[in-house]
Amino acid sequence: MERDFVPDVRTLTIGNKPVEPAGERWDVVNPATEEVIATVGGASADQVDQAVRAARDAFDGWAALSGEERSAAIHRLADVLESRTEQLLASIVNEVGTPVSLAEFMQVKMGLGHLRWQADAAKKDRTQHLGAYDVPVPTMSDVTHYPVGVVAAITGYNYPLNLAIFKFGAALAAGCTVVLLPSPRTPLTTLFFGDLSREAGLPDGVFNVIIGGADVGQRLSSHPGVDKVSFTGSDAVGAKIMEQAAANLSGVTLELGGKSANIVLPGCDVEDFAVEMHLRWSRNGGQGCAALARLLVHESLYDRFLEAGAAAFDQMKVGDPWDPATNIGPMIRPDHRERVQGFIDGSLSDGGEVLLSVDDPLPDKGYFINPVLLGGLPHTARAVQQEIFGPVAVILPFRDTDEAIRLANDTAFGLAANVWAPDLAEGRRVAERLRAGTVWINGGGAMRPDAPFGGSGRSGIGREIGEWGIHEYLEPRHIQWRV
Ligand code: NAD
Repeated sequence: MERDFVPDVRTLTIGNKPVEPAGERWDVVNPATEEVIATVGGASADQVDQAVRAARDAFDGWAALSGEERSAAIHRLADVLESRTEQLLASIVNEVGTPVSLAEFMQVKMGLGHLRWQADAAKKDRTQHLGAYDVPVPTMSDVTHYPVGVVAAITGYNYPLNLAIFKFGAALAAGCTVVLLPSPRTPLTTLFFGDLSREAGLPDGVFNVIIGGADVGQRLSSHPGVDKVSFTGSDAVGAKIMEQAAANLSGVTLELGGKSANIVLPGCDVEDFAVEMHLRWSRNGGQGCAALARLLVHESLYDRFLEAGAAAFDQMKVGDPWDPATNIGPMIRPDHRERVQGFIDGSLSDGGEVLLSVDDPLPDKGYFINPVLLGGLPHTARAVQQEIFGPVAVILPFRDTDEAIRLANDTAFGLAANVWAPDLAEGRRVAERLRAGTVWINGGGAMRPDAPFGGSGRSGIGREIGEWGIHEYLEPRHIQWRV
């Protein structure tokens, strides 16, 4: 394992060439050690324009390739990424602080699995034959598709590898060209992709990688040469993206935050799943959009559930992300840790209480925070309604299933939910009444490459992954002829 590996990425990738960055410089800090592990240069305004122009110039050629040709090129990229899995893994662990076992499964294995699926999906014939229509004259119709054009793909910090793949894999498969902009807090893995895409021999300009902060993101998302902006990040920035893209009426796909519910219905054996449930919402230190950190538990099970949960908190190990026993790494930056602590402190002064916690001493260095489960809060409390993005969950009892569903749907978000049910039929009945883009029943949680992911309300617009993800980058074309 190349634990100390940090990609030596000094250049942007524009037009399939390494380009010396001319914009702001960014220190990349390992959040587990507080060390600056790299300093990378961002794109200047001119370089944003160059990247969009490179993608524009490449578009006609890439869109004109057959699905088989595009598929082969994406598989070649996947081959190169696969030959560097250890380096990709080290890069993620060192820049995000994700525990190594989680980074391996949720990022590298899952991300590459999705890229392979997308590469195969490039070959699919999506023609729909609508058949005959006789008014006012007899005609036949087909619906085919054409790629949207140049895609600006902007990603958040928490899962740099798969968030990028969900976007660029689908966009390339659909025949679009891409300018990818990762978070400046975790840019290394994505810049490394740029280097590897050159090695994979993608045609010039099809895949461009730049970095920068809000100003670069703003220029990119409002650029007249961009046809579609696909964004993963907070709802606050998502709203700005929509406004910026509106300047050119570019389409948007927005994958934003959540406040997802974990519903425990009466009749469940809480001892069977309490540990799994707690270890899941606290995964990646709670820095996951679909963290199921709003626990709605039937009042008859409340005490038993808390008792069973104590075993999970015993298994939570906060610390060095390279230690295979660690399941909770650091927060990304000190200001984020303070924000998370602010939710805990605010809840306590609002009358809430800590019901379960890890109280181990934290490492001297690193932006760590111990996980807590908060109770005693009304459903209107800030910690219950807002995305915390840290290892903090809230628990509320409910009286009957109708109340559970009402509470679960009573947030501004609509991303995901989990229902723990005594039987599948009951779980399914409840799932069908939830306003959430993904509902898991009795656990699971894998993001299949062929199923949609995304949400409604402040969780976003559109879907990624699977056919739904590819269609975000395709326009339907109705072809009609007289018969
Ligand atoms: P963020 O919104 O702070 O930043 C995301 C990206 O937007 C960064 O690259 C940032 O540089 C860029 N940006 C900032 N201002 C911009 C502007 N005005 N114009 C264009 N780009 C701009 O998000 P984050 O803190 O990096 O990520 C955490 C958030 O992402 C959480 O809310 C989480 O729920 C969400 N998220 C959602 C999903 C999903 O699939 N729904 C997945 C992962 C994370």
